[in-house]
Amino acid sequence: LQKKVEMCNWEKGHYINYAKMSENLSVVRSRLNRPLNFAEKVLYSHLDDPHGQEIERGKSYLRLRPDRVACQDATAQMAILQFMSAGMPSVATPTTVHCDHLIEAQVGGERDLARAQDINKEVYDFLATSCAKYNIGFWRPGSGIIHQIILENYAFPGALMIGTDSHTPNAGGLGMAAIGVGGADAVDVMANLPWELKAPKVIGVRLTGELSGWTSPKDIILKVAGILTVKGGTGAIIEYHGPGVKTLSCTGMGTICNMGAEIGATTSIFPFNDRMYDYLVATKRKAIGDFAREYAAELKEDEGAEYDDLIELNLSELEPHINGPFTPDLATPISKFKDAVAANKWPSELKVGLIGSCTNSSYEDMSRAASIAQDALDHGIKAQAVFTVTPGSEQIRATIERDGQLKTLEDFGGMVLANACGPCIGQWDRKDVKKGEPNSIISSYNRNFTGRNDANPATHAFVTSPDLVVALTLAGTLNFNPLTDKLKDKDGKEFMLQPPTGDGLPSRGYDPGRDTYQAPPEDRASVSVAVSPSSDRLQILEPFQAWDGKDALDMPILIKAQGKTTTDHISMAGPWLKYRGHLDNISNNMLIGAINSANGEANKVKNFTTGDFDAVPATARDYKKKGIKWVVIGDWNYGEGSSREHAALEPRHLGGLAIITRSFARIHETNLKKQGMLPLTFTNPEDYDKIQPDDKVDLMCTELAVGKPMTMKVHPKNGEPFTVQLSHTFNEGQIEWFKNGSALNTMAKKNSQ
Ligand code: SF4
Repeated sequence: LQKKVEMCNWEKGHYINYAKMSENLSVVRSRLNRPLNFAEKVLYSHLDDPHGQEIERGKSYLRLRPDRVACQDATAQMAILQFMSAGMPSVATPTTVHCDHLIEAQVGGERDLARAQDINKEVYDFLATSCAKYNIGFWRPGSGIIHQIILENYAFPGALMIGTDSHTPNAGGLGMAAIGVGGADAVDVMANLPWELKAPKVIGVRLTGELSGWTSPKDIILKVAGILTVKGGTGAIIEYHGPGVKTLSCTGMGTICNMGAEIGATTSIFPFNDRMYDYLVATKRKAIGDFAREYAAELKEDEGAEYDDLIELNLSELEPHINGPFTPDLATPISKFKDAVAANKWPSELKVGLIGSCTNSSYEDMSRAASIAQDALDHGIKAQAVFTVTPGSEQIRATIERDGQLKTLEDFGGMVLANACGPCIGQWDRKDVKKGEPNSIISSYNRNFTGRNDANPATHAFVTSPDLVVALTLAGTLNFNPLTDKLKDKDGKEFMLQPPTGDGLPSRGYDPGRDTYQAPPEDRASVSVAVSPSSDRLQILEPFQAWDGKDALDMPILIKAQGKTTTDHISMAGPWLKYRGHLDNISNNMLIGAINSANGEANKVKNFTTGDFDAVPATARDYKKKGIKWVVIGDWNYGEGSSREHAALEPRHLGGLAIITRSFARIHETNLKKQGMLPLTFTNPEDYDKIQPDDKVDLMCTELAVGKPMTMKVHPKNGEPFTVQLSHTFNEGQIEWFKNGSALNTMAKKNSQ
């Protein structure tokens, strides 16, 4: 096990450390003294401190050392901007950035890509130069979708990766625990801090039997989503195992793990097996496959390993499924789908079929889809609905172009889109129906929430396998079941489609296609990062100021928020996402969704210096200009929702000092600490009611110490001052963050010493 095998073919000097992982595992084993499942093995083998780490599934917070970080272009902007302010010369953990989310589908791959390069030039230039500067692998627009590129190039069995995208778990198809995170977490790992994860529960899915005919790997996750629902995987890793696993292709396993995000799972994972080995060989990583075989005993569950829950699925009995509309967990087997369409009055005419995306664009997927299309063409018929094909990567596109599947899909009526997210993330200039018009579309994607694809809330979006997308697109109706129904050929003669067939891997190997990778240059010191000072989408982050060492006196309450205050209320998404690389501009959405307890309205607070009511961000800016620090008072579970680092950056940027609540959502609380703010809670939650929005407060910051409460003195507008006790969860290291102004300032300080 002392062999040196590199993690990937693109970087030098980063080796797979199975020896260290084994060592960590034996430490943990001797402590826990019980068989481990595979998910546990991957996590525990990456512990920062295997000796001292407290380990209880569902309870303890694991401090982990991931092997890699991956970012997509939308989330990478703020992550890199923050990393830059840490003052480090390069990332401490191998990292890649992938340009896939900002390319809009309009008229077809080539032209759409050229247009995106023009519109997003400043973002791409920033990412290309910052990646070059900080030793990050950069995948240019057109290279493909992050998760496909990771599977093809970077995933390896037993590894731990975090990625700033919710479908990062796709790499579980190669036995990697790949977990979607927010940008702040990615920055920590890039900057060599351990990464924290609540020890997940593990739900086992035991597969028996074998897929056949029209049933595909996608149907496994469509079925599991139906069983567990969109919330059922929350806080858990889904671990597939059992004899049925070896009947699935590696990319099929990737599809299943990818869509595990739809049930809220932390990630999903398959044990190392021969199909993964074959895929590693096909993607020019035989050495990794051979190395994994040596370590194979640790790349699956121990005998007798237990799961917190267990689902059993017999693949031989599994039917093809179609899930939706509007939610990915409404699972209907194809035999009952026609009745469901009628009973629910879903529009039965199919307007558009879309195959590909990060979920289902493997060589196998495209080959099977093309086999159905060819069957139709042989009978002289073509797609009845609009049909789009999104290759997941340039390598897939070039290979299916060489091997003919692309041509077949085009002859069938397909428009080939850029190797990018496109309609899956709403980057779709859809013209065939008007907004508000009820209509049905079907895709092989993973997510089908209202309006996601085309911003039309009346679009009924269904998700299924690429096989059924092609079959239903051919029929032009949701009422078609290819397992039982006949079609008419060009002469009106009835026929039945043959079940799809297709190779899992290309027999002639993959064609890499165009070179779309930018390696970091040798001389990185001379690279300057491209950010125009006049840009409204990007802004270099200035380090936040260190604490002045004093108590903070006489501060106004910017807003006393009442009820739910989610990260979406604190930093709204939608049109604001355009500014996610520009802290000052995006700060104009700060807390605009929070409800002011003084008037029950959103985004209307009183500026105590003028007496006027104004928007929350404008008021905060005015205080900042006048050198006045402020606080926010919040209700229960403040900051719940997706882990958006902007929700912590913005109040800090606009001059806030503390957020004082009845309770916090934990990730947001940590994010606030990272940005140098004070997240504090009322020791007695009823004190929330004693504070009025017009009050002023003194915060005894000098009292901040581990495990000790802090005093807040409240000066009511009318009435006697009183004190309130506040609690906090700061540890020693986090107190340093506050003192230095942020976690990154702390890191920068250490680096300069
Ligand atoms: Fe996310 Fe869709 Fe892109 Fe996949 S293809 S990364 S699901 S937006």
